[in-house]
Amino acid sequence: MSAPYRDLDPENWDSVRALGHRMIDDMIDHLATVRQRPVWQPMPDAVRDSFQAATLPTTPTPLDVIYQEFQDRIQPFTAGNIHPRFMGWVHGGGNVVGMLADLLAGGLNANLGGRDHAPIAVERQIMRWCADLFGFPPDSTGILVTGSSLANLIGVLIARRQRLGATVRTAGLKDAPLVGYAATSAHGCIARAFDFAGLGTDALRRIACDGAGRMRLDLLDAEIAADRAAGLIPFIVIGTAGTVDTGAIDDLNALADRAAAHDLWFHVDGAFGAFAHLSPRLRPLVAGIERADSLAFDFHKWAQIPYDAGCVLVRDGVAHAETFAAPAAYLQRETRGLAAGHPWFCDFGPDLSRGFRALKVWFTLRAYGTDHLGRVIDHCCAMAHDLAARIDAAPHLERAAPVALNIVCFRHLGPARDLDAFNRTLVIALQESGVAVPSTTTIDGHLVIRIALVNHRVGPEDLDQLMAAVAHYGAVLTGTD
Ligand SMILES: *Cc1c(COP(=O)(O)O)cnc(C)c1O
Repeated sequence: MSAPYRDLDPENWDSVRALGHRMIDDMIDHLATVRQRPVWQPMPDAVRDSFQAATLPTTPTPLDVIYQEFQDRIQPFTAGNIHPRFMGWVHGGGNVVGMLADLLAGGLNANLGGRDHAPIAVERQIMRWCADLFGFPPDSTGILVTGSSLANLIGVLIARRQRLGATVRTAGLKDAPLVGYAATSAHGCIARAFDFAGLGTDALRRIACDGAGRMRLDLLDAEIAADRAAGLIPFIVIGTAGTVDTGAIDDLNALADRAAAHDLWFHVDGAFGAFAHLSPRLRPLVAGIERADSLAFDFHKWAQIPYDAGCVLVRDGVAHAETFAAPAAYLQRETRGLAAGHPWFCDFGPDLSRGFRALKVWFTLRAYGTDHLGRVIDHCCAMAHDLAARIDAAPHLERAAPVALNIVCFRHLGPARDLDAFNRTLVIALQESGVAVPSTTTIDGHLVIRIALVNHRVGPEDLDQLMAAVAHYGAVLTGTD
């Protein structure tokens, strides 16, 4: 005899309510007390093994038991990017308003692929706000996606469709020799986008940079001329506003001029740096961003919205829809009823079913306002310059790159031999100490320590602790402590 059917709603809503309230209280405490904990701690083997050992749950486990396991085995062992001294990678710090909005979105369980409902109006409103923010025309289109990796791919796909016409969507590339251009400092996801778009990574020409980490325009011109002479078809140039390694920003106005002169699609990867536009002081650094044909950026980095929330904005909305809309589906849309509301978001990207990412963006933008978010970005850059000055004043440290935005690269001069190995070990020691999490990158063939200040919670006291820990572990590893 099998048990009578039950749906998935709780037998007792009051106990779920009580536990739900406790979860919110606990998580708000977790955010409020973040400074009292290590940035990161390694996951003990027992914890790691416990995930491996558990088999598929075919029968119910009480929610409070699961929640206890979450508190014991998951919550303490995250990467730590909500912590102000998580400085290793360009990860956002999140915010409590966005967290609450995510809870609400989970309750609504909206699907934003299409149809005519208010959640869609929210995402459209965000796209209009973004167009306004970045100086795009009001009829430009956009869509929230997982992150800039996908947003950059979307830019490449639209450019590909524009150059080859509609047949590329039915007949494929047919060996069309498309080539595109980005700086050597461009993010790895650009080459991956060329791979996914069927162009192959070799079709991405990597143009060398000047001393400030910007694409060299003379080399770009020469490469385009050589490719045309060889019978290839240049179709896109990709500028970066804020490289992950050093925060360098391409000369976007010059790239826009080149794109116009050579009849290329101009895409900007502004994953985190695009939001420098929110700060009146920093805005000139990204001048020209408003001239992009398509712009990729992440709400989940500098805009502090909880993961995941990337965005692509496209100047020519027709080109955007022509790349993704399925004509058959599109022509059958209703003009009234729930199946109206054309165009749908599924016409602007690869996903059909889509969650309500827009709600956490909407809540966060409204709760703080873009002026405040701009001040966060300003603050991170000011902290980076403060840190650079401290490094320049420290005899045992040497800076490795100019500070364009919020990223500081340096190395510890430690013992004279094998500085790469020394700095790599120093970074691991810092991470394992739980005091601060820097990372490493390679500049001019040298391994260097990278500090990316993205978290809105970072302050001078965090730089004090970082500098003290660098001095301490540097001395320990040099053997003078
Ligand atoms: C983070 C980043 C990406 C990739 O974005 P995701 O959101 O991680 O997919 C691309 N380009 C730059 C410059 C980035 O900083």
